Amino acid sequence: MSITPLMPVYPRCGFRPVRGEGAWLISEDGSRALDFAAGIAVNLLGHGHPHLTKAIQDQAATLIHVSNLYGSPQGEAFAQRLVDTTFADTVFFTNSGAEAVECAIKTARAYHQSQGSDRFEIITFKNAFHGRTMATISASNQEKMHKGFMPLLEGFKYVDFDDLEGAKAAIGPKTAAFLVEPIQGEGGVRPASDAFMQGLRALADEHGIMLILDEVQCGVARSGTLYAYEQYGIIPDIMATAKGLGGGFPVGACLATEEAARGMVVGTHGSTYGGNPFAMAACQAVWDVVANEEFLTHVRSTGEKLRSTLEQFIGNYPDLFTGVRGKGLMLGVMMTHETRAFVAHLRDNHGLLLVAAGDNTFRVLPPLNIGDAEIQICMEKLSAGAASYQMPQAA
Ligand SMILES: *Cc1c(COP(=O)(O)O)cnc(C)c1O
Repeated sequence: MSITPLMPVYPRCGFRPVRGEGAWLISEDGSRALDFAAGIAVNLLGHGHPHLTKAIQDQAATLIHVSNLYGSPQGEAFAQRLVDTTFADTVFFTNSGAEAVECAIKTARAYHQSQGSDRFEIITFKNAFHGRTMATISASNQEKMHKGFMPLLEGFKYVDFDDLEGAKAAIGPKTAAFLVEPIQGEGGVRPASDAFMQGLRALADEHGIMLILDEVQCGVARSGTLYAYEQYGIIPDIMATAKGLGGGFPVGACLATEEAARGMVVGTHGSTYGGNPFAMAACQAVWDVVANEEFLTHVRSTGEKLRSTLEQFIGNYPDLFTGVRGKGLMLGVMMTHETRAFVAHLRDNHGLLLVAAGDNTFRVLPPLNIGDAEIQICMEKLSAGAASYQMPQAA
């Protein structure tokens, strides 16, 4: 096999988008697909949104990048906006989700170690996805991400997701933090129970350990609230956000309370690009659109509509589908078997883009500003796809 110019780490399909219009992607060969994957929960305003496009264009002509050696009016302004709309007192900007989780891990360790404690261990949950850096793959028990990259970073303990007793039993003298996705994304769109999230908060308080939430996928209005933690009636100490944050512009953030961030002092962390004026302009434009009750209400009602329509539809195919789960417009459809073949069939033969996930589930992650028309087209494509689908023969 000869080497390709792109390092061949992705199992890329034959669909090759070159243009986007709202909830649609147009491929090199002119074919159109309804994009209910949204760049894996990234393009929350769809493609070519006028407000986001203009903000990026204007900022590109004004100032794209300056070093974090200088004062940042742009960073301060957007960080203040995050502080005003979340639990956080302070923010570190990154370029990706994995870096936001990395910063969260460092912040939790530094919280303890800056005051002379040697706590370092992070309790994480099985089938989690936290990114592809060494620390974030070490934070997941998924062996497919570890293979070939040993040894892992030490200091992670894996417990079953949504198992509060297991989490409690895993706490030891070296425990620094819990790290959890309130709604597992890659693991199969599995929302944690209220009791689990509230129980983790209580355990963290009782044992003096940090509660880190990974809201890289479920955050930024995706779940029907600005962040999913709001629906659990808890607040974290530290939280990672990214994906939708820049509406497609690569940017992430690690948010923390003043107390939790006390180890993150001058010289402890950094990023060359993190929070540059270009990224901040994209974030501001996204926040202009999503951070208000009217938009969040739209996400919730559209999510409910899509969910009930999906539930009705899957009832016609009990041999294929077993249920729908998720929150807001982060939905998962559970199948009776592995979902990749069905997702590929919808994409290749019916022009509908979805995302496969773990636990025999595929993800439905449309742009958040879709309306009834897009839901209807999605359902037409799904119905046609289910009717023409040949279930893979069991081996
Ligand atoms: C995608 C994702 C990440 C990693 O984000 P990258 O931008 O790919 O580094 C981390 N955590 C969760 C929950 C994610 O869905």
